[in-house]
Amino acid sequence: MNTAIRLLEQAAARWPDKIAVEEETGSITYGALLRRAQAIGTGLLAQGVSGPVIVYLPKSIDALAAFFGALCAGTAYVPVDAHIPMARLGKIAENLRPGCIVTHEDLLPNLEGTGLTGTLLSGLEGAIDGDAVARATAGVIDTDPIYIMYTSGSTGTPKGVTIPHRGILDYADWVVDTFGFDETTVMANQAPFYFDNSTFDIYGTLRCGGKLLLTPETLFLFPLKLPEYLEANEVTSIFWVPTVMMNVANAGALEGHPLPKLKNVAFCGEVMPNKQLNIWRRALPHCAYANLYGPTEITDVCCYYKVDRAFADHESLPIGRACENMRAMVLMEEGREAAVEETGELCIAGSGVALGYWNAPELTARAFVQDPLRPHTASRMYRTGDLAKVGQDGLLYFLGRRDSQIKLKGNRIELGEIETAAVCIPGVANACALLDEAAGQIVLFAESGEKLTLRQANKVLKQYIPAYMLPGRLVVMERLPHTANDKIDRVRLRASLTEEVAPC
Ligand code: AMP
Repeated sequence: MNTAIRLLEQAAARWPDKIAVEEETGSITYGALLRRAQAIGTGLLAQGVSGPVIVYLPKSIDALAAFFGALCAGTAYVPVDAHIPMARLGKIAENLRPGCIVTHEDLLPNLEGTGLTGTLLSGLEGAIDGDAVARATAGVIDTDPIYIMYTSGSTGTPKGVTIPHRGILDYADWVVDTFGFDETTVMANQAPFYFDNSTFDIYGTLRCGGKLLLTPETLFLFPLKLPEYLEANEVTSIFWVPTVMMNVANAGALEGHPLPKLKNVAFCGEVMPNKQLNIWRRALPHCAYANLYGPTEITDVCCYYKVDRAFADHESLPIGRACENMRAMVLMEEGREAAVEETGELCIAGSGVALGYWNAPELTARAFVQDPLRPHTASRMYRTGDLAKVGQDGLLYFLGRRDSQIKLKGNRIELGEIETAAVCIPGVANACALLDEAAGQIVLFAESGEKLTLRQANKVLKQYIPAYMLPGRLVVMERLPHTANDKIDRVRLRASLTEEVAPC
């Protein structure tokens, strides 16, 4: 097996009439999914599309068909949020130079005046030209890109993480083996398709002939309803961000819902506190729990820990060990491996490592480097920017970040991207964005001589950054505090969040 298209072909051959994906308004079988992908691939080829295909659609069966359609045309797909601000989509398109932007009629008006052209998905789905698709996919090898996922960039420009087919194929094998997935698996998807946690759900189920349930996004706003949904749909597996897991635990939503069908509860994307995990473990003692770790740059997950002992509420959960075909190393500045209990940077090598950032050689060269422990071969590793240690128990522990990247409700955010957008607010000369962990929100400190409300600020910011990056609080200052070498004094601003001291 060398590409994900072969994975879909194999699933369609083995389980042609089995439901592959179900959404609120319908479902699709494996056989029909392959046929739709081939039709869309034919349509793209007929239009002469050869570059990556931006899929500007809500989470849906249509979006999945478009992903596989792009693969059938011999190219890669680029999932973007259906609510993406047009300025951000413009930056992505400028970096990517896409083959086309596949969308629906109701999203088409958003592209007006942006200089971007949308291609209707419905217009691509005609008769299948099997020969054309076979020719287009025959030349694709496992080191070619399967998708490009844009993550927040500190300079304000999103970074296009480019993942090879091999990364996904190995990952799908690992998911199925590790969690014992089979044709009876029913997975309730939470992650948006533009967030790489969704690859666990999409390719894990595709690999084993399971069913992928596209859980309505609005349901995650009502944690009390989630267990009912899992029960009604006989869900066997979930892979959710810790924020959602915590909301369910904090709301007491699991009480009265024994969920006998649920077997696997996995989570990834941010720290999972044991306090809330223990609520899950007490309520659903029959489930297996796993803490998965990984940045977008290594094909979703590179380390995992199957929770195999009791933890006190205040203890940290390990991120465990490297997955198959991956290597996790804690390295010190000088390139040596850290000793047990010594803090260093977590670096990852293996088949999941991205090809780099699309069309950004300098950024790629900085983050993807020669593995210093393998100096005699071209072994690349990704420097995660995460601090970690190996504990006395031989397991890896996540200890935080070395930079200003944060996680808020599972979303990866570079505070620099918010600051770049903030100086576009009329009257704002400089800005500093910080995470107020206690309040669970971003605070924007804006340097301005004029009056400005949070509402006014967010009205402008919405044009540049997604809703999950918007600040929840605004502090307007005539001048931001500066350090001796004239940088913004972030330490002082941060202290003002907790100590209730005036920032300046
Ligand atoms: P993303 O690229 O959105 O998947 O974000 C990756 C970052 O999320 C990592 O570099 C970590 O900082 C954080 N992260 C992912 N998984 C975990 C985990 N299990 N525990 C703590 N932090 C995590």
